[in-house]
Amino acid sequence: MTEPAQRIAVIGGGISGLSAAWELSGAVDPSQTQLVVLESDRRWGGKIDSFEFEGSQVDLGPDAFLARRPEAVGLCQELGIEAELVAPSASRAYVCSRGKLRALPSGLVLGVPTRFLPVASSGILPWPGLLRLAMDFIAISPRTSLPKSVGGSQRSQDCSVGDIIRTHMGSQVLDRLVDPLVGGIHAGRAARLSAAATFPQLLQACATGPSLARNLRPPGTPDRAEKPTQPIFLSVQRGLSYLIESLVAQLLSRGISLQLSTTVRSLGRSDGRWVIGLEEADLQADGVVLAVPAPVSASLLASHSAQAASLLGSLEHASVAIVTLAYAKEDVATDLSGTGFVVPAVEGRLLSACTWLSSKWKHLEKHDEVLLRASVGRFGDERFMALDDEELLSAAHAELSEMLDLSGPPLAGNVRRWPGAFPQYAVGHLELVSQLQDSISELRGLALAGAALNGVGIPACIASARAAARKVLADQLRR
Ligand SMILES: Cc1cc2nc3c(=O)[nH]c(=O)nc-3n(C[C@H](O)[C@H](O)[C@H](O)COP(=O)(O)OP(=O)(O)OC[C@H]3O[C@@H](n4cnc5c(N)ncnc54)[C@H](O)[C@@H]3O)c2cc1C
Repeated sequence: MTEPAQRIAVIGGGISGLSAAWELSGAVDPSQTQLVVLESDRRWGGKIDSFEFEGSQVDLGPDAFLARRPEAVGLCQELGIEAELVAPSASRAYVCSRGKLRALPSGLVLGVPTRFLPVASSGILPWPGLLRLAMDFIAISPRTSLPKSVGGSQRSQDCSVGDIIRTHMGSQVLDRLVDPLVGGIHAGRAARLSAAATFPQLLQACATGPSLARNLRPPGTPDRAEKPTQPIFLSVQRGLSYLIESLVAQLLSRGISLQLSTTVRSLGRSDGRWVIGLEEADLQADGVVLAVPAPVSASLLASHSAQAASLLGSLEHASVAIVTLAYAKEDVATDLSGTGFVVPAVEGRLLSACTWLSSKWKHLEKHDEVLLRASVGRFGDERFMALDDEELLSAAHAELSEMLDLSGPPLAGNVRRWPGAFPQYAVGHLELVSQLQDSISELRGLALAGAALNGVGIPACIASARAAARKVLADQLRR
């Protein structure tokens, strides 16, 4: 086989790698440049994976994406699958606080109250916590010197989400509202998560004036709850794996070489080209998009940039598992009209959240069954790792039985573990990413993509992937 004039390789076939390949495939001339995607697993999609459960396609990793960002919706439109997009059919969500499920009040922005009365009547906070929150509304919270600088430049102004909330609203609001909601997105703890990277509006709000609640309140809604007109989240009716299947099918139809079960073991450099070390034969490439988890990128980059490897290697990760369960409808005494509930870490339970799949999504509604998706694990809580699948299923069932008043055993159950799945954006994360990008800027033809950079959500991963693809293409033009 003759070598193509040029080759660009994407390493990693999750949503980031496949999106990078999609961006590249729309830009290169296939007669001049061969595109190849190398994935170590036997399937595409990485953290995106759906399976058939009780006759429906159910997600084992992410089950929705943010619709207010354009990237995921835009990709579905480009692939012609936008008719598959579905919005949740319920909106009410609950928190398990002080031993009971309680509806989350209106007016929360990622768990931060912007209206007092709904929180006061929700029963989520004990009265000392409410009193402390009231101090923020009447703007007599102790003023704070936040944000504190963690570096020298303007972009490094940062502190933890937890520091801001505790200072302005007290630890009860932090523990019972903000931690389970903001922390839940990252499987992290608000006390450690960077405000600049995970909740930048919070930094702006606390710099604007003494009342965080008032500064966060959407403009023009002084006393009414904001009613979203567009869905906040969307999913794919056939499961998010359908997005992956569509991407793969269209990449194949564009002539891209897609290789499963192909682990990249090393990355070298020879005669101005990248040398990708595979089990059988090395592959030479002029451009490389690294779309693998941070520890893998760190080891592949170690011989090219010690700084990049050390920054990537310094990121901590949280492990989680998803337990999917089916129950007979008649065995569930609690009214499940809503999307599900989150569980604050201070409750001490194994479960961190539970999605009521068959109420949240119309296409998963069943005549005689209820489908639940329980999440366990978060940063600093790996108790579930000590349990085997049977034990984890029965522990999840025991907690759900108590919380949802279940009177029968599960009809079916499944455990999916995600070790080290969530990179933790600690204080200073944006500065870390900027140093990381600087440290690889001299590595011509190489770019990084994925959840370790500027957002763990699917839209952010797509954005990072498309930017990485453009960087590699721009480097080709500079040759
Ligand atoms: C349980 C769970 C729930 C989530 N919920 C949501 C949600 O509701 N909404 C949302 O937007 N996001 C959610 N996320 C986050 C989101 O799914 C991920 O951040 C995103 O899918 C990461 O995509 P990626 O392509 O960057 O990485 P990955 O999906 O991890 O893909 C990296 C790929 O690289 C491959 N690889 C690794 N090493 C090598 C190697 N040496 N050679 C070749 N290939 C290699 C891996 O096999 C993998 O396929 C969730 C994540 C999890 C785990």
